[in-house]
Amino acid sequence: MNDAAANIAENLSRMEDAIGTACLAAGRSREDVRLMAVSKTHPVELLLEAIAAGHRLFGENRVQEFGEKAAVLAGSPYRVARGTEADQADSVAVHLIGHLQSNKSARAAELFTGVDTVDSLKLAERLFAAAKREARTLPVLVEIKLSDEEAKEGLAPGGAELAALLERLPEFAEHLPLRGLMTVAPISDDPEVARRCFRRLRVLREELAQRHPRLAFAELSMGMSGDFEAAIAEGSTMIRVGTAIFGARPKRV
Ligand SMILES: *Cc1c(COP(=O)(O)O)cnc(C)c1O
Repeated sequence: MNDAAANIAENLSRMEDAIGTACLAAGRSREDVRLMAVSKTHPVELLLEAIAAGHRLFGENRVQEFGEKAAVLAGSPYRVARGTEADQADSVAVHLIGHLQSNKSARAAELFTGVDTVDSLKLAERLFAAAKREARTLPVLVEIKLSDEEAKEGLAPGGAELAALLERLPEFAEHLPLRGLMTVAPISDDPEVARRCFRRLRVLREELAQRHPRLAFAELSMGMSGDFEAAIAEGSTMIRVGTAIFGARPKRV
C-alpha cells in the first residue's frame, strides 16, 4: 500500500468513529446515516483504494469526469450498481452530486447509480426518458436551495417550479423513483448557519411528505467534511464527505 492508500483506509475509519460519536450524541442509530465518499477531482486510483478499503458508496460531480473513471472501473473487479444500491461485494454505488445539464441526462442515466441533484421538471423528464430507454431504475433526490448564495444550485423551497416537479414525479416512479432531498449548506464560520439550513431541510421534508403522499422522502442528503455533525444532529441520512477522506482536492485546470 502506498501512503495515500494507507491514509484513505485510516481516514475512513476515523470518519466511522466521528459518525458513531455524532449519532450517539444525536440519539440516532448508526445504521440510519450513510457515508458517501466524494471522490470528485481525485484520480480514479484513490477511488479504487477506497473500494479496496471496503467502501461502497461514492459521489462524483461531473458526468465527463466520472465517464473516464467508469471506463477504468469497467476493467476492475468492481461494477457500478444500477438501480439497487451496492448490495453485492463487487458492486459500488456512485451518485451524481453536481449540477446536471439536461443535455447530459442520457449519459448520466447510463453511468450513475443515482442522481442526487434533480433541480427542474425538464431535467426529470429527460432523466425519466433516458432511464426508460435503458430499462433501468434511476433513483433521484431533489436538490433544494436554502441559502441566498448565487453560486448554489437547487430549487427554492416555496417555489412554483418545485411544486410542478413534485406534481409530476409520481408519474415517473417506475424508472425515476424519488428517494428524498439534498442540499448544500452555505459556507460560514458560524456552525449555527449550517445547522439552521439542515433543520430547514428536515422540516421541509416533513411538509412535502404530507402534501405528496404518493412520493417517498426518506433520504436527506446533507452534511460535508466541515458540517456533518450538525447534519447528523438534524436528521441527515447521507453525509457527503470528500476532503476528510481523500485530502485536499487538486485544483482543476
Ligand atoms: C465537493 C462536495 C462535497 C464534499 O465536500 P468536502 O467539503 O470536501 O467534504 C459534498 N457535496 C457536494 C455537493 C460537493 O460538491
